[in-house]
Amino acid sequence: MMSFNYDIMAVGAHPDDVEIGMGGTIAKYSRLDKKVVIINLTEAELSSNGTVETRQKEAEKACERLGVQTRVQLRFPDRGLLESRQKAIDEIVKLIRHYRPRLVFAPFHQDRHPDHGHCGDICREAVFSATIKKYLPQESNDRFQVQALYYYQINGSSQPDFLIDISDDKETKYSALACFKSQFNNETNSLKTPLNSGYIDLLQAREQLLGSEAGTIAAEGFFCEKPPLIHDLLGDIIK
Ligand SMILES: [Zn+2]
Repeated sequence: MMSFNYDIMAVGAHPDDVEIGMGGTIAKYSRLDKKVVIINLTEAELSSNGTVETRQKEAEKACERLGVQTRVQLRFPDRGLLESRQKAIDEIVKLIRHYRPRLVFAPFHQDRHPDHGHCGDICREAVFSATIKKYLPQESNDRFQVQALYYYQINGSSQPDFLIDISDDKETKYSALACFKSQFNNETNSLKTPLNSGYIDLLQAREQLLGSEAGTIAAEGFFCEKPPLIHDLLGDIIK
């Protein structure tokens, strides 16, 4: 029987991916005293606005607001995940074996930014490889099997496989996103990007739309490759 150290490991290509896609869910589980670790594969050094240093400070602040104590910043090249794929898989395998999370979350592949899809693919391979005893046997801890890998939605409006109600946690989410001033604020010297051109409004609209489909105020959508196992059907249905 595997013992879990962390409840949730959420991996993003860039600092702000996890917050955009599942900040409400992270806030919710932190509030319920679950242990969460956020991992960012790149420092987003190619970002049109803000510097690496600024973005790191913003990410730290956002983590504090979400109640997340552990954040790991890796330094794979921005827009270079494809050529660093194997190294990134191995790094995530080591982190899975170290943090022993119950669930791993990664970006959904249907997204205008290719790095989000690459990050999801890297995590999928890592979740599998982490279970193989003879994979990286010298370099990391024992093999480890997470319970499930789920994908969160950054850009796009694909219909998700399941929803998490974030009605009580959306304010915390948006207070965390507000920390990424360099990305979402439209300053006089900012380059115009999708993020500073009404992105937050679109994100909130998506959450409200998903929420309304489930009879609640706001929800974040997730995807899975296998049907999720529900232990208590009556307990899981909200309305
Ligand atoms: Zn991103």
